[in-house]
Amino acid sequence: MTTIPFGDLRRQNTGLHDELNAALLRVLESGWYILGSEVAAFEHEFAAFCGVQYCIGVASGAEALYLALAALGIGTNDEVITVSNACTYQTEAILQAGAHPVFVDVYLSTHNLDPARIAAAITPRTRAIMPVHLYGRLADMEAINRIASAYGLAIVEDAAQAHGAWRVDAAGQPQQAGSLGTLACFSFYPTKNLGALGDGGAVVTNNEQLAEQVRRLRQYGWGSKYITAERGGRNSRLDELQAALLRVKLPHVSAWNDARRERAAWYTDLLRDTPLSLPPDEPGHVYHLYVVVAEDKAQRDALREHLKAAGIGSAIHYPVPSHLQPVYSEWLTPQQPTIRPQGAGTLPYTEDLAHRILSLPLYPELTHAEVAQVAAAIHAFFDAQAQVEH
Ligand SMILES: *Cc1c(COP(=O)(O)O)cnc(C)c1O
Repeated sequence: MTTIPFGDLRRQNTGLHDELNAALLRVLESGWYILGSEVAAFEHEFAAFCGVQYCIGVASGAEALYLALAALGIGTNDEVITVSNACTYQTEAILQAGAHPVFVDVYLSTHNLDPARIAAAITPRTRAIMPVHLYGRLADMEAINRIASAYGLAIVEDAAQAHGAWRVDAAGQPQQAGSLGTLACFSFYPTKNLGALGDGGAVVTNNEQLAEQVRRLRQYGWGSKYITAERGGRNSRLDELQAALLRVKLPHVSAWNDARRERAAWYTDLLRDTPLSLPPDEPGHVYHLYVVVAEDKAQRDALREHLKAAGIGSAIHYPVPSHLQPVYSEWLTPQQPTIRPQGAGTLPYTEDLAHRILSLPLYPELTHAEVAQVAAAIHAFFDAQAQVEH
């Protein structure tokens, strides 16, 4: 029995060994390690990849979310509408900006923000909507944009799992993740669809003023060297080294996304006859993760144990929704009379899914034999269950 890890970054990185090595040496020998030609070139190339005008390389996806909110001037007494099922990155960024997160529930089928629930969450303090393109599937941006423009709200896309995800607009034109809101945030954490060999992130936008603002805030608030133009600046720069490595990988992302989609299709084909709910496919979904939904928590947990015993890695993205994380209880208790209570029971689909989701191994280098082995192990699990029940 061969083991199948949940992820294996060496498969991608050793395949690019010579090019990565050359990029690494180029930076080493340049003698310039912060905000130089590599970051500038990567920003240019990544903006083009997203179909936007401006890209600002920053330290991480988490930093990107904070800087986007700060650039919009969002702070004390403001509210930002987001989801609770995409880890605490959004919640923490909103709180760090000094604002208040307001959660809305997701679609049961896609796990993405349900736009029909946004209007009821809007108050006079609402400033922005922060949808997440979860697992590599675009949120319903057409509906979200309609609501945002009706209420005059900004949109900050969390595109950390959606590099290269796309949709076709009403005019039949393809649109990329990152070009669908006011600003968008990416992470280049090593496991993402575009991953560095360390931390990295980016904010992209078509708004020149907001781009300038993020550019200042990522570097101490400086307008020019040693001259601070803006309070609240950070040290949140993308390294030259990571930018050079990302430039090697960027041209491969579309092919890697195609490979992810192919592997997702293999799973969907092989798992169709199981009790699991499988992710509905759509053309621009780039499958950062392949997430199945079990019938209940006991089944999910038992399946996960069964896979582990079979040498197959799996994961839960994410086990505890933001609004149920004890650490936030104080901040989610509304001091502001406009916000309704946000405790247990307020987001039924989010809470239900957290108990039933399971992420299977999915990366571009996974072989068909490996996908078949995972599927066989899942069938064996349900066959054994059926026997117990008879
Ligand atoms: C990974 C991730 C982030 C955070 O990115 P880092 O680079 O790890 O800080 C934010 N949002 C989502 C949806 C993510 O998956």
